[in-house]
Amino acid sequence: MMLQLQRVMVFIVLLAWTACSATQGSSTALKLEHQKSAKPHAERGRSPSNHQFANGHWSYQGVEGPDHWAMLKPSYMTCETGRQQSPINIVMPHAGYNQENLEFHYKPTPLIIRNNGHTIQVNYQKGSFFRLNGRSYKLRQFHFHDPSEHHIDGKAYPMEMHLVHQDEKGHIVVIGVLLTFGKENPAFARVGDWLQAHIGHRFPAQGQEVSTDLTFDLMDVLPDTIHHFSYHGSLTTPPCSEGVQWVILKVPMKISKKQADRFITTIGQNARPIQPLNYRDVQEN
Ligand SMILES: [Zn+2]
Repeated sequence: MMLQLQRVMVFIVLLAWTACSATQGSSTALKLEHQKSAKPHAERGRSPSNHQFANGHWSYQGVEGPDHWAMLKPSYMTCETGRQQSPINIVMPHAGYNQENLEFHYKPTPLIIRNNGHTIQVNYQKGSFFRLNGRSYKLRQFHFHDPSEHHIDGKAYPMEMHLVHQDEKGHIVVIGVLLTFGKENPAFARVGDWLQAHIGHRFPAQGQEVSTDLTFDLMDVLPDTIHHFSYHGSLTTPPCSEGVQWVILKVPMKISKKQADRFITTIGQNARPIQPLNYRDVQEN
């Protein structure tokens, strides 16, 4: 019985190593969302229990799921103790209107599609930025969640895209774009067609990236109107760091059910549950 238990533990640890090391391949990976573990290789000599704690591998289900993130690594404690966590359910009527000024200065980027084990992510080439109330934030990457992480009036959308920006001091602004089913945006459709022709009905496998011969311009997938909600929250993945400015665009964009199926087949569901609002204001603009 003990021997069997040990075998199971060794198997679990091996699985954790495999998954973690798969998220480390890209030298350009940001230490923002979907952060890789700090020193996974240095932990290999430790006992299984220590390894599991120090390794910090996390997922969306079971013992490494959102309810347990804070226990997986000391630096993930904010996932449980934080009072300004994301995502949230945005309930109308909202707190009030404010006058925010959003300016998008995005250029096309070479499209390299990466599966980091938690999401499908595209790192953006340097040179694109976003201005919020006169301050500039560099566009670093965008990635996807299925279903949406933010809810509007208690309702989740089929998917949500996160555009992650950072300024010189490390302040993070994430723009959330809700995605709903319908006639797909042509820019998404082009990517879907390319993937279908080159790697079939899935995205790249975990830890892999695919360099396409396409360029992608986020300006092509943003809605014409930039009415939005904004609030102060956190990263929605470990270490759940707070101080993140969220901007959730009101107008959803369209994707095909086929693209969502491609995502689910490759990644599975990857939405953190709704977090308590704790008396935060949600502004509307
Ligand atoms: Zn995200």
